[in-house]
Amino acid sequence: MSIFHLPRLPSHFPIFICSKPILPAAAALFSSPKTNPISHFSSIPTLSTLPLQTPENLSPSEEPHLEIPIDKLFVPPETDVSPQNAPLSSRILKGSNIVLSKYAGDAQVSQAEFVKSSVRTEDCPSDGMPEFALVGRSNVGKSSLLNSLVRRKKLALTSKKPGKTQCINHFRINDSWYLVDLPGYGFAAAPQELRTDWDKFTKDYFLNRSTLVSVFLLIDASIPVKTIDLEYASWLGQNQIPMTLIFTKCDKRKKKKNGGKRPEENVLDFQDLIRDFFQTVPPWIMTSSVTNQGRDEILLHMAQLRNYWRKH
Ligand code: GDP
Repeated sequence: MSIFHLPRLPSHFPIFICSKPILPAAAALFSSPKTNPISHFSSIPTLSTLPLQTPENLSPSEEPHLEIPIDKLFVPPETDVSPQNAPLSSRILKGSNIVLSKYAGDAQVSQAEFVKSSVRTEDCPSDGMPEFALVGRSNVGKSSLLNSLVRRKKLALTSKKPGKTQCINHFRINDSWYLVDLPGYGFAAAPQELRTDWDKFTKDYFLNRSTLVSVFLLIDASIPVKTIDLEYASWLGQNQIPMTLIFTKCDKRKKKKNGGKRPEENVLDFQDLIRDFFQTVPPWIMTSSVTNQGRDEILLHMAQLRNYWRKH
């Protein structure tokens, strides 16, 4: 079942009922605003704003402070957002708009192995295990992220070997789910023919792979929004392919002289520009493969999507 087709969220509480409390071990991964979120209510009564947790390596003067209105949070189905449970603000994964649900468990990666490279969707593994596809522009940091997720320095090199760069590469995790590395797009030097092929090949995979739980679309947050990334995200939105936005290189915080923006500003710009293409707000997470920011948050998010998918 697709998890994309969730009910549109009302901008007030409560929505779903949850039976289990948040896992204490995961508590460090949540945003923990120093102030009560109630004090952040904006002048629009239906919007509560929540401060975004900052990466530990930032000096106080550099701390990004994104405010996320309730209607821009990603609340998984069957998630209790009533204040009687833990306050919503304490259940948002750090550096993201994602609320954790009762389905977030088994997030650790204990085993990762390359399984196969496929040139067509129908050649992909057929064991029915859920999978997440990583995709993004060449050089966005996809290999670095994949290695960081599985805590292996060179696992993703497999995808960069000659003959495998244009393939669907499956990595089996804990013998129970897959991370899928798709070829990077937007390589400026590639001939038009190759780009068209890439389009056909990956779009067929997105549209026809029944075990695909969510596409993880990587966007470089250290540079201004690129048209090709917007086109990609909007195509996924229009085709109702479940998508999570992974903003990469969020450690690159030097503001460029010619009006360059900080990662959190680029993150907001991107979301503003794609908003109209989505029925529900897509989940997003800020990451860095240098500091490992967002790593554990991605794994928890994948766990809750996967566990929900398995039950439905
Ligand atoms: P791919 O082509 O998408 O697989 O990208 P790579 O993982 O090979 O990374 C491309 C370049 O970006 C390399 O020089 C990486 O060292 C660099 N890079 C990747 N992730 C990050 C990150 O989170 N922060 C910074 N500062 N650089 C990164």
